[in-house]
Amino acid sequence: MMNIDHWASSRKGHSRIKTGETDMNKLRLIARSMTTLLGLGALFGFGLHANAADYPIKDKSITLIVPFAAGGPTDRVARDLSEALRKSLGGNVVVENDAGGPGGLIGASKLLRSTPDGHTLLVHHIAMGIFPSLVRNLPFNVESDFEYLGMINDVPMTLIGKPQLPANTYKELLAWVAANKGHINLANAGLASASQLCGMLWQASIQVDMTSVPYKGTAPAMTDLIGGQVDLMCDQTTSTTSQIEAKKVKAFGVTTLKRLNIPALKDLATLDELGEKGFQVTIWHGLYGPKGMPADVIAKINAGLKAALKDPEFVKKQEGLGAVVITDKRSDPAEHKKFVASEIARWTPVIKAANVYAD
Ligand code: ASP
Repeated sequence: MMNIDHWASSRKGHSRIKTGETDMNKLRLIARSMTTLLGLGALFGFGLHANAADYPIKDKSITLIVPFAAGGPTDRVARDLSEALRKSLGGNVVVENDAGGPGGLIGASKLLRSTPDGHTLLVHHIAMGIFPSLVRNLPFNVESDFEYLGMINDVPMTLIGKPQLPANTYKELLAWVAANKGHINLANAGLASASQLCGMLWQASIQVDMTSVPYKGTAPAMTDLIGGQVDLMCDQTTSTTSQIEAKKVKAFGVTTLKRLNIPALKDLATLDELGEKGFQVTIWHGLYGPKGMPADVIAKINAGLKAALKDPEFVKKQEGLGAVVITDKRSDPAEHKKFVASEIARWTPVIKAANVYAD
């Protein structure tokens, strides 16, 4: 039975993953200057609005920071959302890709250096729930440094392989893995990314260690997978569906307990039914702002988000790629915050026991 406790115990003593010391020093400096700027902003009221009547400010765009490369699942949801928010909030909404750092740390840190006036927001995923345990010396506090603006979607993942793989079925894949142990490259969207998490869970489930190849997001990883430079990847359906349909990659299984109900993936078996009992990974996305935004601006953005989540075009685009748009109470800021806290509580013991770090 594959569950997170099983994963934790199977990963005890697993090696640590490190990035350069210089990056962490830079991030610490950024965090320090961020605190100073926020303090000055609060003192002098830089760019803050007493009420939401003039939000969004005429001629000032709302920027959605995506902490991964353009063309991946986080970018996909942010671009679809930007179109819906343009209608519901009535301003110009642009997407900015600030990729890099474990779990998209560079983009998240950039958000925290911005003026808390609702014009710079962040679209981020499950990294918000695994940051505190995967990244030691995190330069911010996920629970107290962000404004929670509501959740956007839940997205299943798929296990996919390069088109050159000799295997066509999951059984054949396992045989290929067994025959190539020690030589298999598993791509991911970066340390502490959703794809790394899914890949770690899958390796634990089949009890085989592979070489992790981190990229700055799904898009560059996908390019190399299609080109055959790496062997396998686990990633969100919002990026993999079109590549599976176009037969540019091979699909081996989906990470939900039930098969998906979209034409392109309806025949793809679940990893659970393929023998990885209990295997289930779903990635979620939410909308965030820097701490200190006026309450009525938060309420206005949340109302705009809720309208966007009901926008038929947004729903059609997202659900056509296997995502499930949030319709439950997690679209409320307080519930969003509670959900992230519950995810932190859920992943912390697992990641601690696994002794894996992404710093
Ligand atoms: N799918 C990526 C991840 O695994 C992120 C992205 O490129 O959107 O975290």
